[in-house]
Amino acid sequence: MVNAPAVLNADLHCHSNYSDGTLPPALLAARAATNGVELWALTDHDETRGQGIAREAALSHGLAWLSGVEISVSFAGETVHIVGLGFDTDDTALTAGLAATRGGRLQRAREMAEGLAQVGITGAMEGALRYVGNPELVSRTHFARYLVESGRCANTHEVFRHYLVEGRPGYVPHRWAALGDAVRWIVQAGGVAVIAHPARYRFSPTAEYALFTEFVAHGGRGVEVMTGSHSAAECLKYADTAREFDLLASRGSDFHAPAESRTDLGALPWLPGQLAPVWEALEHRVQRP
Ligand code: AMP
Ligand code: MN
Ligand code: MN
Ligand code: MN
Repeated sequence: MVNAPAVLNADLHCHSNYSDGTLPPALLAARAATNGVELWALTDHDETRGQGIAREAALSHGLAWLSGVEISVSFAGETVHIVGLGFDTDDTALTAGLAATRGGRLQRAREMAEGLAQVGITGAMEGALRYVGNPELVSRTHFARYLVESGRCANTHEVFRHYLVEGRPGYVPHRWAALGDAVRWIVQAGGVAVIAHPARYRFSPTAEYALFTEFVAHGGRGVEVMTGSHSAAECLKYADTAREFDLLASRGSDFHAPAESRTDLGALPWLPGQLAPVWEALEHRVQRP
């Protein structure tokens, strides 16, 4: 028997100009409402300062709202993203942990610009900064936008492939938060920790198993099954993983910008049946208009 899919238009992953999205939180809330989203969370990278505005805008547009964040973590030599949902945005340990995680980004950006200068791309730091909405949150995405603007590549995906991933001139290795710390900050602030877009990581099956096992051991409870970063086959694969590890399932577009993102807010297929939606476990944390 196949259960009915969870037909709530929940979009629990997207970015504003407090990180590497292009729209301010209020315009994202408006876009989510226009697109039929019913429950919305803004999940900026390593940053929660957009949450107050996101909440106000969500409620004024008739959207149910959860707090959100996407924390950068280093695990087994790879960067992994952990989404936090439904936490207390005033929690001091979480706020301090995120500030520390943001801490090295400016120096990393300078080193990225130096690497690009060595292959003849000058002015990348200044160019990237023109796209930055939050001075503590310079990301590879901002460099990518500048390189598209200057005609180096046709789109940001191409920039990443040629310039910004491991082995390419603009790539700088970086140490992010530890997995256990990120999960603990979220859980101790009353939220649920979710592994973001698991198909994006280049792990061996063994390393991936270790990620899920350690994540659960630290108190992590969810995994993104439906995300703009997954193919249809990957959605099915991680629906199985959610069952295997008894994890709550999440759904989020990972929308960044109208001109860049393949999946718009609210535009994903439904969460498959027979999975426990993460929002049912967070019912007590949802704020409603
Ligand atoms: P950072 O936190 O500075 O390392 O930047 C990571 C961000 O870069 C991700 O959150 C995505 O928004 C973006 N990104 C990573 N890989 C790609 C890619 N292949 N194409 C486009 N954007 C990407
Ligand atoms: Mn991003
Ligand atoms: Mn991510
Ligand atoms: Mn994201």
